[in-house]
Order: sequence, then C-alpha cells, then structure tokens
Amino acid sequence: MNDQLTLTEEFKQALPVFERLTEAGYEAYFVGGSVRDALLGLPVNDVDIATSARPEEVKALFEKTVDIGIEHGTVLVMEGDNHYEITTYRTESTYKDFRRPDSVSFVRSLKEDLKRRDFTINAIAIDKEGNITDLFNGIEDLNKKIIRAVGDPNERFHEDALRMMRAVRFAAQLGFEIDDNTLEATKEQVPLLEKIAVERINIEWIKLLTSKARKRGLEAVIETKLYEYCPELANKKMALVYLANGEKRIDSERIAWSLLLYYIRYMQPRAYQENIASFLRQWKTSNQMIEDVKTIVLGMEERLKTKTLDPYLIFNYGLDLSLDIEEALSHVNKELSNPEEVATIYTELPIHSRDDLDLSGHDLMTHFAKKPGPWLGEAIKLAEEKVIRKEWPNDKETLLKYLEVIFNQ
Ligand code: ATP
Ligand code: MG
Repeated sequence: MNDQLTLTEEFKQALPVFERLTEAGYEAYFVGGSVRDALLGLPVNDVDIATSARPEEVKALFEKTVDIGIEHGTVLVMEGDNHYEITTYRTESTYKDFRRPDSVSFVRSLKEDLKRRDFTINAIAIDKEGNITDLFNGIEDLNKKIIRAVGDPNERFHEDALRMMRAVRFAAQLGFEIDDNTLEATKEQVPLLEKIAVERINIEWIKLLTSKARKRGLEAVIETKLYEYCPELANKKMALVYLANGEKRIDSERIAWSLLLYYIRYMQPRAYQENIASFLRQWKTSNQMIEDVKTIVLGMEERLKTKTLDPYLIFNYGLDLSLDIEEALSHVNKELSNPEEVATIYTELPIHSRDDLDLSGHDLMTHFAKKPGPWLGEAIKLAEEKVIRKEWPNDKETLLKYLEVIFNQ
C-alpha cells in the first residue's frame, strides 16, 4: 500500500456530494470503515464523509437530508438511490460517565477529528483524488494486521468503554491481533463496560459472533474477561470456549444466539437450564428474535435427542425455522444435520397451513350440531396432525367420519 488509493466505484459515486462540499469552500474527506476496507481490498459498505462544514452548513447545501444524529454532527444526505453520512469534524472532550460524550465540540481541523477516532486503522482519511492522510500510522497497522487504539488506550476506553467491544469485534471481522497495550488497557478498564447501553454492546457482540475469525474475537473476549461484564455471560466461559472452537462461520444473528444458548444449556444440569427468553431480554433483543431462538434451540435439542425428522414439527415450525434448526445443528453435529431432507419433507407435506385442511370449524359445528368450545380446536388439531402424518386423507367426509368416532360418543 502506498500514499494513494485508487478510488473504487463506491467512492466515485459519492463524488458529486463530496464536491458540493469542497466547491462551497469546505474541507471534505472520506474516512472510517470504508477507507479501511478499500485499503484492505474488501467490499466497501457505507461511504462516510467528514467535513469542516457545520451540520447547518451541510444541510443548506443539499436538497434532501435527514438529521440522523445532528447533535453529534451527522447529517444523512440522500442523493439518487444512495445516501451518505456526512459528519462534521468534532472532538469529544467532555466524557463524564464513560459513555458517549455529553456534548461534542465541532472543530475545523481534520487532525482533531481523526484523533477522536477509536483505532488507527479507522482513522485514515482520503481526499477525492485518493491521497491518503494517515496521522497515526493506520496503514502500517493494516499491513501488520493490528488493532491499536489512537493515543493512550486507557484514556480512550475511559472516554468510551464501548471501544473495548469494538476492538474484539474488529479482531474477529478482520482476523487481526489486538496490540499489546490496547489489550492490556482493555483488561484494566473492562469493568467500565457495565456503563454502556446493552443495545450498543449487542451490536458489536453479534458482529463478532458472525465474523469469519470469531475464534480470535472470542479468545480476546475471554482473555480480557469482557464477557464478565456482558449481560448474563459472567459465569458462562465454557460455553464461549465451545462457541470459539466451532470451525464453521455463523451466518446469521438467529443462529448466533441459538448456538450460544444451546452451549450454555448444554453445560448446565437440566433442571437449571437457562431460560432462553429471560437471557435474551437482558440483551434487549426483539420479541421476534426471542420466539425464533426458542424454536431453534428447543428444535435442536429435540433433534439431538430423537435423531429423527418429524413432519408434524416441520409443519409447525415452518420451512425457514426448520432450516435454521438444521443450520444450527450443523455446527454441533454435522452428520445429523440434513437440510435437504427437511426441504423434501416440507415440499411433500399434504398441507402447508391450517387453511389447506379440508375441514373448518363451521363444518364441524354443523356436522355435530354442537356449540363452539374447546372441542372444536382439539378436533381441528387432531385432524391436522393425522393429515400431516398421512394417517388420514385430507378429505372432508372422511375426516368427519373419523372424528365422529372420537367426539360423538
Ligand atoms: P463497519 O464496517 O462495521 O461499519 P466502521 O469502522 O465503519 O465499521 P462505524 O461504527 O460505522 O464503524 O463507525 C465509523 C467510524 O467512526 C469508525 O471507523 C471510527 O473512525 C469512528 N467511530 C465509530 N465508533 C466510534 C467510537 N465508539 N469511538 C471512536 N470512534 C468511533
Ligand atoms: Mg460504518
């Protein structure tokens, strides 16, 4: 890598926005994750722009903007199908509580802005020709594959303790080592993580677990004892060791939580097994996530116990969750996992939803001349299960006849 980066398509697309700023007399640079990833030859996600223009000045230059974090100096500029985060140069000087700064001061110098960034590899700026500004030897660290805090790591983690989670997350995403001083500072400052909003920890945690080098990230989490300050993980080291040692990459958040909870429960006596919902509530995940993870973990445990695939369960879970169970299973018992068979069973189900059943509540009430009541749900459920198991045909007359034997005595 040298002092110039050939701008990739993503940056070129942003040039009209970029040039609007510079033509109005402000400074502008591409910074942060997109520059880091481009220098590494990785795909670039969001192109972020740092500028000397104040947020109001940025807004005055563009037609369509959204205030996504204006108090921190960030304005989202919409340009055709693309959008760009434009952030005013700033420092974050007044940290009172180890979290985000209570107030930010906008500054006019790029240097001040780069100084407040978390790691050297995230503090590289490029101009519109691709000329590099690298005040903290970020390029050297990219070459050496090192995550190193900008400035004194103890101070930087004191300012914002989330940075410790970001360090292990980047180690996992990039497969980098954490620099010795940065790692030592994490060990020292780790209790400060308790001050950080769970939602912010959650984001870094899931990025870590779904990264290609999660082993490296989790090893750093274990070594620094970061896990002791994450919700519900304080005494779950062994589960993390299991999770670290899996070879296969975890490809979604649902699978990440499911595997973590599977290992945690696996390590515990049955009577004390972790309650999945209360664990995930501490992590502030969505209710949908809680429901899905419950299904996947219990589904995995069922599969491991019975070693069979049950069409009725596949019907109840639906195809997506049934495949997620197989995917999660492939991490703990590769031989047992059989997504192809699940897909075949699903395709061959006689019905795919209750609506496909050739029998309604109305049919039952007319046939039996009975008022609605619990019997109705039971009858439908029984017919449904029998049809799915191909024990009864999906045919109204026959179903009514079979049910008569049971409900009309
Ligand atoms: P990703 O690819 O995950 O988006 P990123 O490096 O772009 O990685 P972001 O969270 O999008 O990470 O942040 C953009 C940039 O803002 C970072 O590269 C870094 O320079 C700076 N930054 C983000 N969070 C912090 C923080 N907590 N402390 C200091 N600087 C930060
Ligand atoms: Mg980013």
